[in-house]
Amino acid sequence: MSLSQLARSICESPTLKLNETAAMLRDKGEPVIHLGGGEPKSKAPVDAIVNCASLLQTGDVKYTPADGIPSLKKAIIRYTEEHYGRLAAPENVIASSGAKQAIMVLLHAVLDPKEEVIFPVPYWVSYPEMIKLAGGVPVPVTARDGGFEPTVEEMAEAVGPYTKAVILNSPNNPSGAVYSDGFVAGVVELCEKRNLYLVMDDTYNRLIFDGRTPTNCYQFSQVHNLDSSKLVVINCVSKMYAMTGFRIGWAVGARDLIRVMTNIQSQETSGPAAPSQWAAVGALNGVQSSIDSLRMTLENNRNVMMTRLGAFNGVKAVMPGGTFYCFPDFSAYEKDSQKLSRMLLDKVRVVTVPGREFGMEGHLRLSFCGTIKEITEGIDRIKWALDPGAPNELYLGDRKLVRDWR
Ligand code: PMP
Repeated sequence: MSLSQLARSICESPTLKLNETAAMLRDKGEPVIHLGGGEPKSKAPVDAIVNCASLLQTGDVKYTPADGIPSLKKAIIRYTEEHYGRLAAPENVIASSGAKQAIMVLLHAVLDPKEEVIFPVPYWVSYPEMIKLAGGVPVPVTARDGGFEPTVEEMAEAVGPYTKAVILNSPNNPSGAVYSDGFVAGVVELCEKRNLYLVMDDTYNRLIFDGRTPTNCYQFSQVHNLDSSKLVVINCVSKMYAMTGFRIGWAVGARDLIRVMTNIQSQETSGPAAPSQWAAVGALNGVQSSIDSLRMTLENNRNVMMTRLGAFNGVKAVMPGGTFYCFPDFSAYEKDSQKLSRMLLDKVRVVTVPGREFGMEGHLRLSFCGTIKEITEGIDRIKWALDPGAPNELYLGDRKLVRDWR
């Protein structure tokens, strides 16, 4: 088959692949525990469903403007004012089919071939492939201290003549790290000095723990007019409202940029699906208590997971400040994260995501968006598989496992 060079250079999404594997094993009746998931278990807010249903009931479901329906843009403007203190005009906003599409049309809008995009390690799996899809070159920056947040100097060292943009994602998928204000402020300053786009992927910024408030990148910016700013804020209803399947995200930025992003989106897909936009309007304008209750559930889940991991000799786990992921270092047991992840799936039917996919070997991404039972049993199974001191047998439901490795 003759396929393009580009197609051959793009890898499949490892996290979506793991979902498929887990579903296939479950269908076969295997007692799989999915600690690889990327979506909250809770239901979409009632206001989202009611608003969506009201459109569906009319039967009048048509194309929408390529950058989103006016009522969604209005709701996004209100959200931006409330959470970022920035007054945006409708021309500063584009609604897309998920944060993923918002980032993708943005990359297409700013990158010329071989231009570089810088982002810290560990990073969301999709950034390198999305940058490559847009013709660019991904430049991950690893912290020399081995941690989850490089220094501003390390980011600055990666800036070269071909650098076009920086992406920051905080709280971070996969580490759960909330970047320090000093780091975000330093990167905002760096981008403004070097005339680079700064993409703030704020997908998880309301899912933040320990009473902290989400970082607002605009507070560090010297450019007060949105239309002169190269700061682009990405958000979505996917995680904070547990609405991953609706596929609604957005970008807020300078109107000249949003205009070309809209042109690209209009040729690629047209506007996002109308029922989903109506649902997003319902979520954004409706009762907001579901975010608080999701955050509290996740914070409790995080505490349970961290306590379990704390009883695991040799595993180094840093407390996540947000999201529903933690990213412990298992290298004392196995340095090859793909081998370890595969072994945990084969032997104890626990799905994890190898750290290599996020640019950090020796780690596994473990999600705590499931139930407490899944978290405790999942970690117990991992411990059984890895801990040489564990008894030889383990019961998965009524199935007896006998350790035949090591
Ligand atoms: N950014 C990050 C950091 C994510 O983790 C995800 C989803 N896993 C997205 C963007 C994409 O979000 P959406 O589902 O709205 O496309």
